[in-house]
Amino acid sequence: MEAGLFCPSGTMTNQIAIKAHTEPLSEVICDFTSHIYQYEVGGIAFNAGASVYLLHGERGILTADMVKSAIRPDDNIHYPSTRLVSLENTANKGGGAFYTLAQIAPIAQVCRAHNLALHLDGARIFNALVAADEKSQDYGQYFDSISVCLSKGLGTPVGSVLLGSKSFIKKTIRIRKVLGGGMRQVGYLAAAGIYALDHHVQRLSEDHIRAQALAEVLMASSYVQSLLPVQTNIVIITLVPEISTQTFLQKLKEKNILATEFGPQQIRLVTHLDYTDEMAEYTLTTLKNLSF
Ligand SMILES: *Cc1c(COP(=O)(O)O)cnc(C)c1O
Repeated sequence: MEAGLFCPSGTMTNQIAIKAHTEPLSEVICDFTSHIYQYEVGGIAFNAGASVYLLHGERGILTADMVKSAIRPDDNIHYPSTRLVSLENTANKGGGAFYTLAQIAPIAQVCRAHNLALHLDGARIFNALVAADEKSQDYGQYFDSISVCLSKGLGTPVGSVLLGSKSFIKKTIRIRKVLGGGMRQVGYLAAAGIYALDHHVQRLSEDHIRAQALAEVLMASSYVQSLLPVQTNIVIITLVPEISTQTFLQKLKEKNILATEFGPQQIRLVTHLDYTDEMAEYTLTTLKNLSF
């Protein structure tokens, strides 16, 4: 990508991109579970005045055919006009499932054929790249904009970057300003981001190995009913019906382990830069010996 825009959060980079790609009475195609729809306070309606067409992908992963089926016919004035497709890689609600470039290429082709912009919510794009053994340089050709979180697995204190062409980023600077995202202290934060990009990308594979270790222990635990396949650094379990999420989280917290409720009977655990080998060992032993 030619240019980037530093923002305080991934919600802001996504919302700026959506606002820049759309107009009122137009529509965004995305998965039902996507962050832009579920976790950004309905910002697509609030900020962009756009509508959303929801698809039900496989663990948050869409196909070209699904996207194609969601495109509104141009000649019917009852419909909003489709403008933008947004993908999420890795898919948070999908338990960290990821797209490969081979899956993205046909979606990009559909977008191009129908004159639609393609945005990537790449909050965890480097987890996907490391897991798929692909290069970030190969991504730009498929997307009109990419949002990257520096503050998740990459481990910086704060910040996300929106990437795009020079002309696209020029357009987004005013949107960032009106949202209050222009910061005069940003050099310090950007420096942390550059450090993370230089030093914290390849090590993400360690997070993936530690997530696998968690999955193995959890799969064998009596309090776990099922778990989503673990492909990157996210582990999502469903608890057996007798144990509530509150009881489970409280018990973990007493042992100094933090996790998140992620739906009915669901718990999410995420591995990251600050989850060391020592902590991993402690966590695995604790989870193995947890009784209710
Ligand atoms: C974390 C995250 C974001 C951005 O969230 P912020 O908390 O606003 O930085 C966007 N998309 C996905 C998939 C995320 O996990």
